[in-house]
Amino acid sequence: MSTLSVAKFGGTSVANHSAMSACANIVTADPNTRVVVLSASAGITNLLVALANGKDAEERAKLIAEVRQIEEAILAELKDDSEVRTKIEEILKHIESLADAASVAASPALTDELICQGEMMSTLLFVQVLKELGAKAVWVDVRTIVATNSHFGKAAPDDEQTQKNSDALLKPILAQDNDTMIITQGFIGRDPQGKTTTLGRGGSDYSAALLAEVLNAKDVLIWTDVAGIYTTDPRIVPAAQRIDTMSFAEAAEMATFGAKVLHPATLLPAVRSNIPVFVGSSKAPQDGGTWVTKDPQPRPTFRAIALRRDQTLVTLSSLSMLHAQGFLANVFNILAKHKISVDTITTSEVSVALTLDKTGSASSGAEMLSPELLAELREVSSVKVDTGLSLVALVGNDLHITAGIAKQIFDTLEAYNVRMISYGASTNNICMLVQSEQADDVVRALHLNLFE
Ligand code: ADP
Ligand code: ASP
Ligand code: MG
Repeated sequence: MSTLSVAKFGGTSVANHSAMSACANIVTADPNTRVVVLSASAGITNLLVALANGKDAEERAKLIAEVRQIEEAILAELKDDSEVRTKIEEILKHIESLADAASVAASPALTDELICQGEMMSTLLFVQVLKELGAKAVWVDVRTIVATNSHFGKAAPDDEQTQKNSDALLKPILAQDNDTMIITQGFIGRDPQGKTTTLGRGGSDYSAALLAEVLNAKDVLIWTDVAGIYTTDPRIVPAAQRIDTMSFAEAAEMATFGAKVLHPATLLPAVRSNIPVFVGSSKAPQDGGTWVTKDPQPRPTFRAIALRRDQTLVTLSSLSMLHAQGFLANVFNILAKHKISVDTITTSEVSVALTLDKTGSASSGAEMLSPELLAELREVSSVKVDTGLSLVALVGNDLHITAGIAKQIFDTLEAYNVRMISYGASTNNICMLVQSEQADDVVRALHLNLFE
């Protein structure tokens, strides 16, 4: 039986020196935690994304100054910053020249090379924080481990190659003694040509689960700024309750539908290899958290409410759809060609409405509906695009066979303009598309009626 835990700390957990010290205390207190995956310090990735999108010289200088300020504040708190300061300075210079290049010609590959620098810096600083606490830590460039395809901004891991890399490079470090910790980056990988890739925003959770899988770890510990997974985002509903144990399927559903606390892909390796996932707060580890496992009981009808903002509703209508074959196939072929994954869908005789999810898109946050895609869709149908929408998902168990659910939901939502409902296709969720400005109220109303 493996005793190894892989711990992951998100952006707010490594935002500054005192937050990093709290993380260092958590990992040094647990001898099983030998691999630590970090995000960039809070705010850094957003700044780097802005730089990657191409800015004028003045704006670039301002953004880089903000990046520098966050890193500098951590450097300033170290007892001995000499070695790591040189490395951070080098990275800041590199960021500057990449940002210059992006202002001339931005590209997805350049974006990934730029935004990976945030994780590079946080991990270098964290190694020094650990060393100053007397812990043994080695820094590993995760790009030598996590192999991916070349889909910049949302790369897919190559599991076999990642396994080989881990066997060759990580396992020997773990085998050399029983107290050296490996500190490495979440979110990033490397394609077969040696170019940096990223797994999509929030992807560090996914990285941690991938590494846990190739290292045959006993669990993945996701340390964040909330003490577990709640019945809904506690920022929206302060009365939300912590869920102590939940199933992989339930957590995957919540993550897919926007519960930001876990990246949607995190559960893939966990399910595949049956690795329990813990979610807890790095600021309050004593508060415990949520354990996500294969088959915990009970499984309540209503589990949680997830919210995903920034949804786009595309309505395609074509009279030729009436009694015709192949229309949907055509539409899906076009979407697949543009690497767009459809989220929810409803159809009528002459139209089909689908929602697209911007939040699940590439690291750069680029628009999904490109002019080329719209032009191709317009060749087969009329196209209407609505934005400013949010998807509210009620996640639970056996929702399709539980009597009275539709009534309960519709009664609660009477006062709101619901644009689309998807109910019946999945036993585990009911999705409602609402105006973004009403989304928080819809979540609060549903939570009050179904959970409180
Ligand atoms: P990290 O930087 O550690 O990865 P994130 O900001 O990505 O942290 O995720 C944590 C946030 O997820 C919380 O602060 C919370 O606002 C949000 N969140 C959304 N839904 C939930 C939920 N159901 N339970 C807990 N947190 C949630
Ligand atoms: N730093 C990346 C982001 O902000 C990855 C992560 O935090 O998980 O999206
Ligand atoms: Mg996150």
